[in-house]
Amino acid sequence: MTQHYRITLLPGDGIGPEIMAVAVDVLKVVGEQLDLAFEFQEALMGGAAIDAKGEPLPSETLDLCQNSDAVLLAAIGGYKWDTLPRHLRPETGLLGLRAGLGLFANLRPAKILPQLVDASSLKREIVEGVDILVVRELTGGVYFGQPKGIFATETGEKRGVNTMAYTESEIDRIGRVGFETAQKRGKKLCSVDKANVLEVSQLWRDRITALAPEYPDVELSHMYVDNAAMQLLRYPKQFDTIVTSNLFGDILSDAAAMLTGSIGMLPSASLGASGPGVFEPVHGSAPDIAGQDKANPLAQVLSAAMMLRYSLNQPAAADRIEQAVLTVLDKGNRTGDIMSEGMTLLGCRAMGEALIQALSV
Ligand code: NAD
Repeated sequence: MTQHYRITLLPGDGIGPEIMAVAVDVLKVVGEQLDLAFEFQEALMGGAAIDAKGEPLPSETLDLCQNSDAVLLAAIGGYKWDTLPRHLRPETGLLGLRAGLGLFANLRPAKILPQLVDASSLKREIVEGVDILVVRELTGGVYFGQPKGIFATETGEKRGVNTMAYTESEIDRIGRVGFETAQKRGKKLCSVDKANVLEVSQLWRDRITALAPEYPDVELSHMYVDNAAMQLLRYPKQFDTIVTSNLFGDILSDAAAMLTGSIGMLPSASLGASGPGVFEPVHGSAPDIAGQDKANPLAQVLSAAMMLRYSLNQPAAADRIEQAVLTVLDKGNRTGDIMSEGMTLLGCRAMGEALIQALSV
């Protein structure tokens, strides 16, 4: 029986519309092959929305997103809007989207593709085979805890304050995403904290440990964040799924991403308790190459694969797309950002055509 899905597309700015067009073509082909019917609805966000509607996240855009099965976002922002007041900046739209959809979990894979292993800044033998997914808590911790601010002390000296705080329920819900994500992958979960120093981390460790019996098929370990940073560079292959708080996840997911060496290849997902998730490339709108057919669409296409795997529960469709990406790379096809000697340089559109061809055999 045909499965129907309503997908909101937010192409955004810069290279966004170019890479989104490729992802939509790929989804259409996979949908036909696996009997999935996608109803795409496109909406304005970021600079494009500021120009047309005077705000980065118009209410009709948020409504459409809330009433869909998943949201596929490309990228927002650009020089033109960089000097606007903060509430009118494209990035403010992104924060509004996260809040409006209650997205508290951010999933960022760092997978070394065999064809691009030499793009990493680390040695081949260290990174070959790395396949890590960092699950980062997105709406709590030190970025949001109260009190926060810069206050004057009695002596008149200023004091900056942020508060790292988590409730048990906040830890449990991100912990569950960690365990469930690990179940869909290599069934190993490493929880990263700083429980030797921070009380908030001790509570984190206690709660994650308490959840473990509910997931007997997942092997749980704990690691202090300083050691995790070191181990990511020393022996990254030991990790499968990592779950951690907002601040630690912000830093570790960037470090893990750098292992792959190619920003144009990295997808991400942001999930809420229920309702649609948002799937988007890690990179920005690349205004320097926008409109020139030079963008690498693969992070966007892999974001669509994550959408199929984590929101729509269609792993076979996700596998098919990920395999097509490997096939085009195997054939030596490269966009400028991942180009190396002896490979064939393709533009964004031609890379899309190569993907469709790979899907069609
Ligand atoms: P960027 O990721 O857009 O670009 C960094 C460099 O990587 C540029 O040289 C760019 O050409 C290249 N690059 C990025 N994606 C590429 C792709 N798919 N193919 C080929 N090359 C690619 O980061 P930036 O230059 O710091 O930011 C540009 C704009 O994007 C800013 O307005 C920023 O605020 C915004 N931004 C948006 C998001 C988002 O939408 N989530 C994330 C980061 C930055």
